[in-house]
Amino acid sequence: MNNRLQEVKKVLPHVLFTSLTSANIQLSRHSRWQDRVMAKRTKRKIARPKLPLQRQLEFETDGRYFDLRAMFEKLNSRYFGNRLRGYKIIWGKRRQERPRENFIFGTIQEEDHIIRINPWLDQRFVPTWFLEYVLYHEMLHAIVPDQMNQSGRRCVHTDEFNRREREFRFYKRARRWEEENLARFLR
Ligand SMILES: [Zn+2]
Repeated sequence: MNNRLQEVKKVLPHVLFTSLTSANIQLSRHSRWQDRVMAKRTKRKIARPKLPLQRQLEFETDGRYFDLRAMFEKLNSRYFGNRLRGYKIIWGKRRQERPRENFIFGTIQEEDHIIRINPWLDQRFVPTWFLEYVLYHEMLHAIVPDQMNQSGRRCVHTDEFNRREREFRFYKRARRWEEENLARFLR
């Protein structure tokens, strides 16, 4: 493992945390919570670390439609010069119900090198390049260090992070797909 990764691995896990975003989503069905949700546009926040017990439960890499390991290897080679070492890439635990407001696509726990992808993404209608974007986003957290801003708050999506995120080949397409399809992941 190189020095750069050593530096960041102590960092708290991140969550790709997104809310229903815009009018081009069909909102009629969801209007009762639309107002609350609109204020949280494309918000990402730091997750609470999981309890040790929860960590041990899920280690699935092979989904019905997507093989996360193969996808990770491809992205690691193409975008990161194979710098991410020793990571487990797994589908997270499937919850009974889809969330109402916020859908967490993926998380990274850098201290124990685990990337979890939400198993609701393992569906036929999800484009490969969208899942790749979600995984790319989490992998990028292992590479781009967090920063503290002036008020002492941790910033995980720094300018540098956002710049690097746009280097993903299908970034724009993926963000548009996310806006147009998020409602399908929510109740
Ligand atoms: Zn993030």
